[in-house]
Amino acid sequence: MASSRQTNLRRHVTALLKCRRCPRMRSTPVSGGPIVSEVILVGQAPGPREPVLQRPFAHTAGQTLFRWLEQHCGLTEAQVRSTIYFAAVCRCFPGKNSGGGDRVPAPDEIRNCSSWLDQEVAILKPRLIIPVGRLAIGQFIECTKLEHVIGCAFRVRRAERNVDLIPLPHPSGASPWHKIPPGRALLAKALRKIARHEAMRRLTSRSGVVCAWQALCL
Ligand code: SF4
Repeated sequence: MASSRQTNLRRHVTALLKCRRCPRMRSTPVSGGPIVSEVILVGQAPGPREPVLQRPFAHTAGQTLFRWLEQHCGLTEAQVRSTIYFAAVCRCFPGKNSGGGDRVPAPDEIRNCSSWLDQEVAILKPRLIIPVGRLAIGQFIECTKLEHVIGCAFRVRRAERNVDLIPLPHPSGASPWHKIPPGRALLAKALRKIARHEAMRRLTSRSGVVCAWQALCL
């Protein structure tokens, strides 16, 4: 069962890396590899560095994200990358907009790419999905204001499965939301919920990690 899941996921990632459905994208797909996991992290889209380095969250936003997860879940970047499956709303770099920022993927590109995520949910049967950033959160639940969803846990239906969803804000330095009230406290609340989730606890115990909140209970 586990090995057929691994085989299916390997085949899936091989096919994903060959995808060229969106002609306006400026890179080929980026994948974190066929990591069989009960936890899927869904980013927005790679920036210009990720296709070069061939891994998601490879630059400054990633450093912040991995610091958050290490502080609250006790997992190093290497442990996160080797135990959590990395997905994204779009897997290719969309290019820059006229203002110099990263272009937000268009609705047709998001639609094209959503089937990859559906397949990943069908293969992995995850217990927990962590969408990172408003665009990723919006693929699962309505997100008009981050303060309405960060710090909360939801049960959503995706690819004919019920999955827990704990959203995080985007760790990019472009928005100060997570550094100032109420974002700072809501972010900490969301990370505590992630650390306490049963799927995350199984994953950290396999990694031999004691989370900050677990240490308090010892
Ligand atoms: S964004 Fe997604 S659907 Fe579009 S080409 Fe890249 S991998 Fe394929």
